[in-house]
Amino acid sequence: MITENTDIRYIKGVGERRAGLFAKLGITSVGALLRHYPRSFEDFGNITPISDCEAGNTYCFKAKVLSEIKEYRIRSNMVLYRFLIGDKTDTLGVVVFNNRFIKNTVKPGNEYLFYGKINLNGMFKELSAPKIKNISFLGKIPVYNATEGLTSSTIEKTVRTVINDVEIKEVLPDSVLASQDLCSADYAIKNIHFPSDDEAYMSAKKRLVFEELFILQLGLKLIKRGRKKTTESIISKDYSDEFASLLPFKLTNAQTRVIKECIFDMMSEKSMNRMIQGDVGSGKTAVAAAVMYTACKNGLQAAIMAPTEVLAEQHFSSFTSFFNNTEIKCCLLTGSVTKKKKAEIKEYIKEGKYDIVIGTHAIITDDVEFSNLGLVITDEQHRFGVNQRLKLSRKGINPHTLVMSATPIPRTLAMILYGDLDISIIDEYPKNRKPVKSYAVTPDYNERIYAFLKKEINSGRQCYIVCPSIEENGSDIESAEECYKRLSEKDFKEYNLGLIHGKMKPKEKDSVMKAFKDGYIQLLISTTVIEVGIDVPNATVMVIENAEQFGLSQLHQLRGRIGRGEYDSTCIFVSPHGKTKRISVLVKSNDGFYIADEDLKLRGPGDFLGSKQHGLPEFKIADLCDDLEIFRVAGNVADNILKNDCELLKSEHSALREKVFETLDTVVHN
Ligand code: ADP
Ligand code: MG
Repeated sequence: MITENTDIRYIKGVGERRAGLFAKLGITSVGALLRHYPRSFEDFGNITPISDCEAGNTYCFKAKVLSEIKEYRIRSNMVLYRFLIGDKTDTLGVVVFNNRFIKNTVKPGNEYLFYGKINLNGMFKELSAPKIKNISFLGKIPVYNATEGLTSSTIEKTVRTVINDVEIKEVLPDSVLASQDLCSADYAIKNIHFPSDDEAYMSAKKRLVFEELFILQLGLKLIKRGRKKTTESIISKDYSDEFASLLPFKLTNAQTRVIKECIFDMMSEKSMNRMIQGDVGSGKTAVAAAVMYTACKNGLQAAIMAPTEVLAEQHFSSFTSFFNNTEIKCCLLTGSVTKKKKAEIKEYIKEGKYDIVIGTHAIITDDVEFSNLGLVITDEQHRFGVNQRLKLSRKGINPHTLVMSATPIPRTLAMILYGDLDISIIDEYPKNRKPVKSYAVTPDYNERIYAFLKKEINSGRQCYIVCPSIEENGSDIESAEECYKRLSEKDFKEYNLGLIHGKMKPKEKDSVMKAFKDGYIQLLISTTVIEVGIDVPNATVMVIENAEQFGLSQLHQLRGRIGRGEYDSTCIFVSPHGKTKRISVLVKSNDGFYIADEDLKLRGPGDFLGSKQHGLPEFKIADLCDDLEIFRVAGNVADNILKNDCELLKSEHSALREKVFETLDTVVHN
């Protein structure tokens, strides 16, 4: 029998190879397949006269084939087929690519339905690669997000194979279905793929949108409940002034204020649940260290999680130098620590020999046991998901938690994501910071840019060049790999160049990053992997190629990698359009909050909410922008449920509970 849990590879016509392709779309079970909803439909019931069509749009025509099918071999691997079709109103050229069966499916003189997009071929309209059906065909064909080697129509066939054999489990309680006037899960899933009519589709969609937002609301509310717990880890004495005396610099007023806010939280019997928002370079690491120092001096262990190994290592080296002359012991626990060493470190953590544990998020999810964990800090929180906080509270540990983020987010979104957190803002930069000088130019400035880079490097500084993509991808945007190759073979032959991108193994990335930190690499070509947290004060120039490809906040984060030392720094945004309205926001301002606001104004909230930057589960059908009202209602319904069953432990909520945790677990980390 097939259920939602059945592995996709056991479905007829799938098998190992296709299962691998489905996995690329995140589909491994029948349930996941059925929740891969169509993106749109091809409507064969809606026929347009040829004379009415316009280039750029998609239509269905009912037309006769008026010519022979002619074959044109373009390249060894590309054959075009062209023919003419016509209805009572006009005629139209059709072009089909690499379909050697076309002559079997389409016969001159016969009439068919053609569904496809109108393109312009020179001056002439042309129907490009249409789907062709018998004229008796009625109805709509679902269109799915597909992947190379797995077409939408294969997905459709697979869905058809199972859809009538699976009973979809209902997760929503009857009371909710009734009060919100929603159809059953089973009906909804069947009609979202193959709607019996428009009304059925709308009611299916309504139900699924509600379900998605309701599940999210429940998850967020469950996380929020976690904070109501009392904690054992109460702190009795504030050691932050003592910590400040260890530093080579004077803390800013904002840093001191935020440290005090955190310590005040930890002195109460409720656990701290706070977010620190501070622009890049505002000095969040020192704040974290002060709070951790205080926790440790009060006899607790503290842990800090960073999204990448490079960043964890950087924290480790900052912390070891901060705590150099103290009794505080730090350890670094990441994936690249050897097995033997790891076992030893874990043993020492368990025995309480280490006060501070620094690592990636594995330190709280793996089998690491602490003797007395009282404080957990997450750096670059937006790189993790909301589920991380949930996992922590589900683990039964209830330490103080502090999350740090450099990405300012609009208030409404912050309420949704972080409504359970108190917020502290570091709104001041360290005094010694010099603003980065920024310029926007077109690519024909390249020669001058390279000369400038060489001048900087020759005087001992280091530089970054950032590219939007990793490897050659057929577009005319140069990738990091191509750029590295070009520069190391030509313009920068006599310099030490490095390449770093997200597809490299953590070990490789680390060794490149180390070589850059140590000053060996003079010019680092990179993708946005360097966006997060890296601190190399000797790097003074950043060139961002194809700057139009990045979001403004992202560009600001990237730029935050320079201007960290005593030298003047320069950021150059290169794009074919030069100084656009968007880029000039960055040239004008160094203020992350201002830039985020402008970004939001220019892009609109849809784009902002849609981006994967915020640790929300990816929506399958809901759209937080269009469906904000439903989101609000779903929140009220969730409150009502939790009022009588605060942990969703009643048996009638067991399916719901399972779904909530499963959904929060799927949050992608990018
Ligand atoms: P971010 O907030 O982006 O994480 P960091 O904590 O990495 O910023 O700090 C950026 C740089 O500023 C580091 O080199 C750090 O040592 C330095 N720094 C932090 N606070 C101060 C301060 N009060 N005065 C001078 N330098 C500081
Ligand atoms: Mg940082």
